[in-house]
Amino acid sequence: MDFLRPSTWEEALAAKAAHPEAVPIAGGTDVMVELNFDRRRPPALIDLTRVAALGEWGTDGDELRVGAGVPYRRIIEELGDALPGLAMASRTVGSPQIRNRGTVGGNLGSASPAGDAHPPLLAAGAEIELASVRGTRRVPAKEFFVGPKRSVLAPDELIAAFRVRPTAGAEQFAKIGTRNAMVIAVCSFALVLDGAARRVGTGIGSAAPTPLRATAAEEFLAAELDWESRAPVPVAVAAEFARLVAAAATPIDDVRGTAAYRRHALSVLARRTLTWAWGGMR
Ligand SMILES: Cc1cc2nc3c(=O)[nH]c(=O)nc-3n(C[C@H](O)[C@H](O)[C@H](O)COP(=O)(O)OP(=O)(O)OC[C@H]3O[C@@H](n4cnc5c(N)ncnc54)[C@H](O)[C@@H]3O)c2cc1C
Repeated sequence: MDFLRPSTWEEALAAKAAHPEAVPIAGGTDVMVELNFDRRRPPALIDLTRVAALGEWGTDGDELRVGAGVPYRRIIEELGDALPGLAMASRTVGSPQIRNRGTVGGNLGSASPAGDAHPPLLAAGAEIELASVRGTRRVPAKEFFVGPKRSVLAPDELIAAFRVRPTAGAEQFAKIGTRNAMVIAVCSFALVLDGAARRVGTGIGSAAPTPLRATAAEEFLAAELDWESRAPVPVAVAAEFARLVAAAATPIDDVRGTAAYRRHALSVLARRTLTWAWGGMR
């Protein structure tokens, strides 16, 4: 197996163009598991860890641009205030070792329906920046996932960054697993309440072939919330929001849970996160 070690972003894009079958490796917390268990035997790996640009983040107008190689630990430590929903999700990923190595870019690259970074990115309306020697394009998170572990990433493309506008409001994330740490989500849910734009954003994980948004639930809640007075959310509104979130999912029965349990759990997470987020509006 060849091991390609670009040291600049341009070299990395050139390597991917010349070797589209080569598998990029960032933190390696997904790739190494696949190699160790012989589930994958690519002809080449492209090590992205020396590409400094991937580990950088900064503001671009009113957006935050976060390099694909920023690990969860730094999302929590450096971006916890600006991206609280993603930071909450990052705290639930694996263990300290996994959070030191694992990256949001790697989570996107794997495109697992259970990836914990995906619901907060969907809820926040993030865009994924993809690049190749042909140029750069921005794909809304809701269009990035096309099937279980499949995304719109072309063979010659790399994930450069994700871009998101920090929310003027509140963000929440909740995940159900069979224990508190080192657990793949049975289901997960992220919520964004943006008081300035009067927008509701949602993200559902582990309850459909891809991570997805509950758009009917978003539209319903945005119209029902009393954004002006911040009056408590009526019980019937919270219940209908929860019902619409559960209805958006298309879960399956598997070793981690049944479809019926996942639907029920999602409605509970939707109600809970709504209560927390509405109570914590900035
Ligand atoms: C013990 C353990 C616990 C875990 N717990 C969780 C958890 O709780 N929640 C969760 O969501 N995940 C979990 N994971 C999975 C994994 O840690 C995450 O998916 C992590 O985000 C992967 O990031 P990485 O940088 O290690 O990716 P890598 O393993 O380096 O790469 C993952 C995929 O993304 C591709 N890739 C990486 N970077 C790029 C790029 N810039 N452009 C294009 N493609 C790229 C790779 O080719 C590969 O297909 C766990 C893994 C382990 C081993």
